[in-house]
Amino acid sequence: MREPRFDILFEPVQIGPVTARNRFFQVPHCNGMGHRDPTAHAVMRGVKAEGGWAVVCTEEVEIHHSTDVAPYVEGRIWDDADIPAHARLVDLVHEHGALAGIELVHSGLIAANLYTRRPPLAPAHLPVSGTHPVQARRMEAGDISDLRRWHRQAVERSLRAGYDIVYVYAGHGLTTIQHFLSRRYNDRRDGYGGSLENRARLLREILEDTVEQVDGRSAVACRICVDELIGPDGLERSEIEEVLGLVGELPDLWDFMVGDWDFDSVTSRFAGEGAQEEYVRGLKQLTSKPVVGVGRFTSPDTMVRMIRDGVLDLIGAARPSIADPFLPKKIEEGRFEEIRECIGCNICVTGDSLMTPLRCTQNPTMGEEWRRGWHPERIRPKATDAKVLVVGAGPAGLEAAQALGKRGYEVVLAEAGNALGGRVTLEARLPGLATWIRVLDYRATQLNRLPTVEVALGSRLSVPEILSYDFGHVALATGSRWRADGVGRWHTHPLELDDVELLTPDDVMTGSRPRGSRVVVFDDDHYYLGGVLAELLATEGHGVTLVTPEPRVSEWTVNTMEQHKIQRKLLELDVVALTSHTVLSASAGVVRTACVYTDREQELSCDSLVLVTSRLPEDALAAELETRLDGQANPTVRLIGDAWSPGTIAAAVWDGHRYAEELDGPASDGDEPPFLREVVALAPLTGSAW
Ligand code: ADP
Ligand code: SF4
Repeated sequence: MREPRFDILFEPVQIGPVTARNRFFQVPHCNGMGHRDPTAHAVMRGVKAEGGWAVVCTEEVEIHHSTDVAPYVEGRIWDDADIPAHARLVDLVHEHGALAGIELVHSGLIAANLYTRRPPLAPAHLPVSGTHPVQARRMEAGDISDLRRWHRQAVERSLRAGYDIVYVYAGHGLTTIQHFLSRRYNDRRDGYGGSLENRARLLREILEDTVEQVDGRSAVACRICVDELIGPDGLERSEIEEVLGLVGELPDLWDFMVGDWDFDSVTSRFAGEGAQEEYVRGLKQLTSKPVVGVGRFTSPDTMVRMIRDGVLDLIGAARPSIADPFLPKKIEEGRFEEIRECIGCNICVTGDSLMTPLRCTQNPTMGEEWRRGWHPERIRPKATDAKVLVVGAGPAGLEAAQALGKRGYEVVLAEAGNALGGRVTLEARLPGLATWIRVLDYRATQLNRLPTVEVALGSRLSVPEILSYDFGHVALATGSRWRADGVGRWHTHPLELDDVELLTPDDVMTGSRPRGSRVVVFDDDHYYLGGVLAELLATEGHGVTLVTPEPRVSEWTVNTMEQHKIQRKLLELDVVALTSHTVLSASAGVVRTACVYTDREQELSCDSLVLVTSRLPEDALAAELETRLDGQANPTVRLIGDAWSPGTIAAAVWDGHRYAEELDGPASDGDEPPFLREVVALAPLTGSAW
């Protein structure tokens, strides 16, 4: 049953001509599926509607072929051919009683138009963002009226697809409308430049056009950046207050966001829940229209405070809705212990950065709803009465055990250590990663509630022990260990490392510390760990040099939108970043390094070398079991998670889930792809070249 103090979250909210059934609003978010994987995308949104969100939005949707963010895969509504894919999404969202919103975008100088090859458009002649050798062309009066017409046409197509809310988008630094609004990009001397009123003219005109075009058939939302966080060089809060004075009553809903996307979706390593509040507070009072905003909200108490304090009317969420598509339903039904809280790791964002279907550390079913038929809350009942042993209680073992328990299997989860969580428990103690413990918290809570799952701590199992019980299936989730020989991406054979204290991440995470003060961290892994360990050791007073063959520290974290924050933090801690260098060897007091371009060598004084290079699976039990079983099919034995193939926590959770989904079903590693694909229907072979 719902607690009365949360009733306020379930009040309906009028948004122009439509009514949101409660205050839970899935704001637009990218998903790496978009126009390429329309059915997978539509089903994912439908599941969120089923989970109780009152409004479910698309990602940004390009309104016209003059704006093409390829190779990124977002939405498109360039012409009528795009309507059926949108209509499918809308239907699935409507099926579950939610409103469907579409975020129309003209990306201007953000889009290099690599697919359409049309010069991008912007308020001024400026290079496009990133490093593409492409410049956007300054828009003339004709271009501006074209843009207004294209936007109207996209609005009309959105209505034909059935959307209930149509966005005018001026946020994240990603849209032409914002580029006009901001002094950062707008140096015009015509009626669209100079004063704020002039810079806001395009916004006002497109809002007016959109209101006129929808003519009461849908609501109009406006998503706007309320502070570009670059001071007087860009949009500031005071200007947005003025903008609200000019156009505050035009749309039916305001969606306030702060900074660029990396601040809007800041990771838990750099900010906590509700980090945007201080920027948004007070703006709602400048309009009579309802206001939505985000803050990686997972706590119902914080949500209630946002409403009661008059900061927001609707609780916006992207990541919390990805980690738990059923968040609203669980709060409504008082099932708080079942909430899968987002950990703020931004693995979901990598789906967008790497143009692959959205994935999530906490929710392994994300992106798999249609193609594998996985559902975040439902899993098919067991097909046999076999008992299952899961060895190892890291993320893979925990997920496998809880999902198998939900299927009704009798499960024993045996863990060698005296605590659950494996690598998550260790990594969550590192600077900035405390929120990651939620990967354990959610699963430990589920295990407690499952009568058929027994958890045995302090149980390091040997092969004879495993075989002495009557298990039909054995899943080995025994994890991995970091290598101490330097083998990784750069060196594929062991290094000469003599007379120097060597530490692996496992050593540091289990409490060992360098004896000396001069520490070299060799990061050939490039995700977060090398940078986090450098931060930890620098904070504890060691003099740290981080050596990496990549041009930047923690290079892969560009995909989680953290790289520049990590580099700044390390530099502020006086960590020396020796980038584009590799470690060659180590001997008493000295590490030899070389530039990866010139091979020029240099020596670094070093007491201790921390190697963050690669890992080896802990798979000895599997080999021994195979020998003992000698072809016998019972029990079945499978390595899962890092013990099968070391990877991210998200990958381990996913693999644990896959094991549970597939047990007693068809093998998924066969000759055919184990998932549905949406293969493009061939167009007629016409065209003048033929
Ligand atoms: P993953 O990321 O794949 O879940 P982890 O390294 O996080 O892997 O967790 C592996 C867990 O397995 C650790 O908690 C470790 O203590 C446990 N473990 C390893 N070997 C055994 C064993 N023989 N018996 C029981 N538990 C084991
Ligand atoms: Fe949250 Fe990480 Fe899942 Fe993204 S991937 S929704 S940040 S838990």
